[in-house]
Amino acid sequence: MGYADSVRKIPAAAVSTVGADMLSRLLRVDSGLTIRLRLSARTLPDIRSANVLGEIRGWEKPEEIVLVGGHLDSWDKGTGAHDDASGCVQAIEVLHLVKRLGIRPRRTIRAVMFMNEENGMRGGLGYAQDSNRAGETHVALIESDRGGFAPRGFTLDADSLVLQKVRSWEPLFEPLNAGRFVRGYSGVDISSMVKKGVPGFGLLVEAHRYFDYHHSANDTIDKVNPRELEIGAVVEALLCLLISERGL
Ligand SMILES: [Zn+2]
Repeated sequence: MGYADSVRKIPAAAVSTVGADMLSRLLRVDSGLTIRLRLSARTLPDIRSANVLGEIRGWEKPEEIVLVGGHLDSWDKGTGAHDDASGCVQAIEVLHLVKRLGIRPRRTIRAVMFMNEENGMRGGLGYAQDSNRAGETHVALIESDRGGFAPRGFTLDADSLVLQKVRSWEPLFEPLNAGRFVRGYSGVDISSMVKKGVPGFGLLVEAHRYFDYHHSANDTIDKVNPRELEIGAVVEALLCLLISERGL
C-alpha cells in the first residue's frame, strides 16, 4: 500500500495467500459473511540499520564484484525461514563452499544480506547508491528470494549476449537438475542496480508450495528442507565461480 503525499491515509491491511484462501472457502459457504478486522500495527519512526556484507577477494580483478544475496528482514507472523532467511544462508554458504574447496576466485565474490526489502527496499537502494565506491564495478547480481526450495535454474534480467553465454553453461548445471536459464525478473533487492544495466539473476526454484508459507505464520524453519536449501547454495556457488572465472 502506498500513498501520494496529497492523499488522506486510511487503514490498510495485507492478507496472506493462506488467509485469502480461507476467506474464499468461508465465503463459498456463507455469501453474507462479514469479518471484523482489528488492526494494531503502527509505523514507528525510522531507525538506523545496515546491510551485512562478507566477501572473498578476487586474486586477479578484486575490483570486479560478483554479488550473491538475499534479505534479512521478514514479516513477523512467522520467522521468515523461506522469505528470506534461506537466501541469506545460501549467500553465506556460497562463500563457505568456495573457501572449503580451496578456490581463490579471479573476481571478488561478495555475499550481501540486504535490510528492509519488505518495507521499502532501502537496503537495496542504499547499496546501489554506494556501489560506485572505490572504483568497484559489479559484473553480476544474484538473488535468492523465492524460498529455500529445490533449485531448477535462474531467471535472467540481462541482454541476449549474456543469456547466450550463460546458456552455454547449462550442461554444468544439469546434473543438479538446475540448468534452466530463462528471461525473467531477478530480485527486489538487486533491482535498482539491474536497472542501471548490471546483469541480474534470480534463483529459480520449485515454488509450488511457496504460497503455503509466504508472509504467514507458517513460514518457519521446519518447512525448509535442508537438502533442497543446500543444493540451492551449490547452484549459486557454481554460477558465482563461473562468472568469476570467465566473466560475462
Ligand atoms: Zn523476500
